[in-house]
Amino acid sequence: MCLYQTACLQSLRNGKTGGVKGYFTKRHLYVIGCTTLLCFSFGYLWNTSNGTWLDTPIKISSTMSSNTQDLDDFHKIKQPSNHILEDLLQIELPRMIYTKPQILKPSRSDVLLMTPWFAPIVWEGTYNSEILNEQFRQRNVTVGLTVFAIKKYVAFLNKFLETAETYFMVGHRVNYYIFTDRPEEVPKVPLKEGRNVVVLQVQNYPRWQEISMRRMEMINSFSQQRFINEVSYVVCVDVDMRFNDQVGVEILSDLFGTLHPGFYAAERQSFTYERRPASQAYVPRDEGDFYYAGGFFGGTVMEVYKLTKKCHEAIMMDKAKGIEAIWQEESHLNKYFVYHKPTKILSPEYLWDDNMGRREILKKRRFLAVPKNHAAIRNK
Ligand code: UDP
Ligand code: MN
Repeated sequence: MCLYQTACLQSLRNGKTGGVKGYFTKRHLYVIGCTTLLCFSFGYLWNTSNGTWLDTPIKISSTMSSNTQDLDDFHKIKQPSNHILEDLLQIELPRMIYTKPQILKPSRSDVLLMTPWFAPIVWEGTYNSEILNEQFRQRNVTVGLTVFAIKKYVAFLNKFLETAETYFMVGHRVNYYIFTDRPEEVPKVPLKEGRNVVVLQVQNYPRWQEISMRRMEMINSFSQQRFINEVSYVVCVDVDMRFNDQVGVEILSDLFGTLHPGFYAAERQSFTYERRPASQAYVPRDEGDFYYAGGFFGGTVMEVYKLTKKCHEAIMMDKAKGIEAIWQEESHLNKYFVYHKPTKILSPEYLWDDNMGRREILKKRRFLAVPKNHAAIRNK
């Protein structure tokens, strides 16, 4: 403790009040000033020669007034953390030639590129794949793609996997996690290097709504069992889809969702959120940013774990009350995103249905709904 603090404490003990000026003489002030300066300078020198204070604050305060044994202990504590820092992966881009970003010329002026919470919205023309690919390659990232093919939906797998091999995360490591009750019907699609299919046998349910909702539970359980050890990011999509253009690392972020093609330009009031307060998926009419699609979301394993856990628990609470949200797990996903804002948002380029026609703002249609005969395929 330095002198200044002792003096102050003393004054408190004596029950004296009043400011420094009224209590101390000029000579006192001079001595106090000098000692304070000395204290701070010593502290500064100590800090710069020993790294940050925040690392080991308790240890530092004790070494300031103690012997060499303590100093040795202190260095022992510092050693491992220095070592870990030395092992950190250094990402360094090679020389690259590309047109420079223009502050006064935004890459797109026809669409919103950033949310009010500073999450980028991914549109064609707003990013440079070459830079992003280099960064993610150097991190040696593996992406898990989860897809459910229960009962008759196995029929979608062939086109889904074939097109994913052409367009999904090209040049990166990919694990396809196929959840199915019919493992023997999973087609053998030729895979490029660094890409694997993992077939996960799971149970089915009689109702298609239940199958769709239970995806939250199953993704959650496998995040804990497998994904956390095998991949960095998990991307969760519908199977009744085909890739039609590049879907790459530009989508990756801690937590991402996709603008539903039917509502990207709609007002809040017309979003088909669950509106019954009895449901855990309830969103009041004066809340919500976007309406997100249930068929394309993801993030780091940790974030996907948290999201699926919360959504599954909410679904079970509803079930106990005999209520099912209007759009099943999509309603719960939308509720989750109101209060856990995604760190990146994918434009409808990433989930489009040609039944909706073509739009000028869509420079690419990357992931397209495959038409299906509901009567023939659902609940079968
Ligand atoms: N699903 C499935 N078998 C079923 C019903 C649904 O595997 O019998 C899975 C499948 O991955 C599907 C997803 O749940 O893509 C969501 O269901 P669906 O695509 O029918 O919903 P929609 O996109 O029509 O809202
Ligand atoms: Mn679908």
